[in-house]
Amino acid sequence: MKILLVYPRYPDTFWSFRHALSFISKSAAFPPLGLLTIAAFLPKKWEKRLVDMNMDRLKTRDISWADYVLVSAMVVQKDSLMHVVKKCKKLGKKVVVGGPHFSSGYSEYEKFVQTFVIGESEDIMPRLVKDLEKGTPKRIYKSKIRPMMSKVPVPDWSLIDVDRYASLSIQYTRGCPFNCDFCDITRIYGRVQRCKDKGQIIKELNMLYNIGWRGQVFFVDDNFIGNQYKLKKEILPAIISWMEKKEHPFSFNTEASINLADDSELMKLMVEAGFSTVFIGIETPSEESLAECGKFQNTNRSLISSVKKIQESGLQVQGGFIVGFDNDSPSIFQRQINFIQKSGVVVAMVGLLNAIQGTRLYQRLKKEGRILSKPTGCNTDFSINFKPKMKMEKLVEGYKKIVNTIYSPKEYYERVKNYLKVRDKFYNSKRKAQISMSHLKALFKSIWILGIRERARRYYWKLFFWALLTRPKVFPSALTFAIYGYHFRKTFELN
Ligand code: SF4
Repeated sequence: MKILLVYPRYPDTFWSFRHALSFISKSAAFPPLGLLTIAAFLPKKWEKRLVDMNMDRLKTRDISWADYVLVSAMVVQKDSLMHVVKKCKKLGKKVVVGGPHFSSGYSEYEKFVQTFVIGESEDIMPRLVKDLEKGTPKRIYKSKIRPMMSKVPVPDWSLIDVDRYASLSIQYTRGCPFNCDFCDITRIYGRVQRCKDKGQIIKELNMLYNIGWRGQVFFVDDNFIGNQYKLKKEILPAIISWMEKKEHPFSFNTEASINLADDSELMKLMVEAGFSTVFIGIETPSEESLAECGKFQNTNRSLISSVKKIQESGLQVQGGFIVGFDNDSPSIFQRQINFIQKSGVVVAMVGLLNAIQGTRLYQRLKKEGRILSKPTGCNTDFSINFKPKMKMEKLVEGYKKIVNTIYSPKEYYERVKNYLKVRDKFYNSKRKAQISMSHLKALFKSIWILGIRERARRYYWKLFFWALLTRPKVFPSALTFAIYGYHFRKTFELN
């Protein structure tokens, strides 16, 4: 049996880091972890190939080679996905699709796809493998349960060239105990968080270590701290002792909720384990809008103080922000700008609210007759799929004002400098700084592109010498943020 696994291309979004990757000679930010996990279910004797279209072209001869093509996709990849399934259909190849995109509907793909896998696939895969072997896969496989994480195998990393990625990934949990109305995580994975045990995590870390990976590892969980007790008692102590034994080969980042700020012990353990960055859904400084979307964990607190507390524990905070809530007044745009600048959240992902099918927000807006279209899944394309309370033009204009301001060189570099002062004081990595050829290349490339070619070069040089001469410890971070800034400006077309 020959299986071709295909990961469709995603557009140039905030998180693709596409414009930053060329500085470090990498082809994509993250590997297709879901597909690699699926691949681990396939019998060893089957031949497997994986094409990640974020770095390679899907060739006709790859499709012709395969008996079946397996595709996994998120909504943001839908254009590329459609191209893949149409191409396979044209070549008479049978396609099996799965992934989060299909859990909210799949009618537009019915003409091109033979088999749909809906929901989490751990309980489905053994049946699917048998049916593929017999040549009689069913039309639809639907998971009726939420499988235990103990059923999730170690991903088959042999299918990709890990050196072409900027970071590798691990999944520790699925689900989130919170219930924000715009989020589909709880609908897909539930509110009772399911976790891998420490044996599984250590096995996965060993696997990454043994294939030679050193550097960034992303825990892809939607909320890493959903089960704080297990993290503190079992998982983090195990990671800490593993990292010490292996002399700190990795630096971790993840996503978490703001209540991380309330648990000093947890933050301390995360830093000790090698976590350097957390992405937090801050969403909005408006209490009314937070209450509207049910993000109660962010209410009744000073969000700025919470962010500062996390930063002062040694973790960099990246933030998600949203505008377009019914309760947002015209002052929200300037309030968001002030908040982001004051908090020192350098990597601030601001998006327009969109209603994802199946969420509580979608149901409410549908009832109110306000849904206009399906969401694109792309948080940087200025689209909105429902009729907002504020005038649409005003909302988009205000949104543009936010991104134009926070990513304009003046404000962006100012924020970087403010955060680096905090980082210099509180960040202490146990990883030995290693200067590789790719770091040197990134340095020279940043000098050429940001320090010579860009119009805003004076900001780059100011930061460059300020960090080099006064805070050399954070000089590498200064360069990294300068490169990120270039990516953000390109993504929002501010150049
Ligand atoms: S905290 Fe994050 S993952 Fe959890 S429901 Fe809210 S938006 Fe979704």
